[in-house]
Amino acid sequence: METEVIVIEESDMDEEALEGLKKAGQIIRDGGLVAFPTETVYGLGGDALNPLSSKKIYAAKGRPSDNPLIVHVANMDDLADIVKEVPEAARKLADAFWPGPLTMIMNKNDKVPYETTGGLDTVAIRMPNNKIALELIRQSGGYIAAPSANTSGRPSPTVARYCVEDLSGKIEMIIDGGQVGIGLESTIVDLTSEVPMILRPGYITAQMLEDVLGKISIDKTIIDSTSTEKPKAPGMKYKHYAPKGDLMIVQGAQDNVVSYINDKSQQAMAEGKRVGVIATDATKAMYRADVVKSVGNREDESTIAHELFKVLREFDDEQIDIMFSESFDDSGIGQAIMNRLLKAAGHNIKSV
Ligand code: AMP
Ligand code: MG
Repeated sequence: METEVIVIEESDMDEEALEGLKKAGQIIRDGGLVAFPTETVYGLGGDALNPLSSKKIYAAKGRPSDNPLIVHVANMDDLADIVKEVPEAARKLADAFWPGPLTMIMNKNDKVPYETTGGLDTVAIRMPNNKIALELIRQSGGYIAAPSANTSGRPSPTVARYCVEDLSGKIEMIIDGGQVGIGLESTIVDLTSEVPMILRPGYITAQMLEDVLGKISIDKTIIDSTSTEKPKAPGMKYKHYAPKGDLMIVQGAQDNVVSYINDKSQQAMAEGKRVGVIATDATKAMYRADVVKSVGNREDESTIAHELFKVLREFDDEQIDIMFSESFDDSGIGQAIMNRLLKAAGHNIKSV
């Protein structure tokens, strides 16, 4: 299949852009797939109410079919139409954070096919904060099922060229809307349990949710890497975000981290390996390796969220065999950053 790539700037949605989105919307109504930008990462969209579309999404990504998809809506009335009831907590959180990087899990009604929810009676729903995404949802009939637009297991795409790399020839269209704003997937909160529970950390932190709802809980399997329990979000049990080379996270005082990584890099390079280091703005100049990239500034962790997946992909482009990464503070948005980094490293973390 020929994949059409169209370019749309979110800040300049002219007539031509709207024409492009109409065409993309028609592709989705007809049961086809379109990759598109959101504020978190690029999504691979199909009609959420069409079981065949969901099957196509799983096939294009190579995603296990028990891993449910997030349904994207563009207004609150459409939300009420696909769930048994809209819980009070959902209204409060939507008021505070929608459109935005928060996914809420509710009890689905019969309109949502089990193909979309991986066989579950619950459905994950989000309203993205991106004008291209919102217009595409409207043009598609109101409900787009969209996981991240990458081959299953690879880092999520934050620029369109990595959607092209993973999905070209497998889907009808890719909308290139430039680099996304946030760079990590949405926070997922389950509202079907008595106390709302975070199933995946993201840009909206536990503290931000507590400020609106009072007490919430966190699925402990996502913060405790030694836990043997199954995560409550089916997708969290899979290997994820992995670059092609081996990645080790090194934590400790800055001087120790730098000298450990430099020693190990020297050894690996002497063995003929290509070595990459994930540094920060303050430390980038301290490393000696084939490729050293800063992932951002520790004083503003949103810069790190923004660059992390892109940097992991760039190391693949550079054919890096072994990577070392600094570690990050596990609070606030750092919790989401460390969750993704630990998965990318297969929990290979060294204290020095
Ligand atoms: P992705 O679309 O790649 O961002 O992944 C979506 C995530 O949402 C996966 O980890 C899914 O397991 C999770 N998810 C989607 N729907 C549900 C649901 N109904 N219950 C629990 N987790 C869900
Ligand atoms: Mg994903």
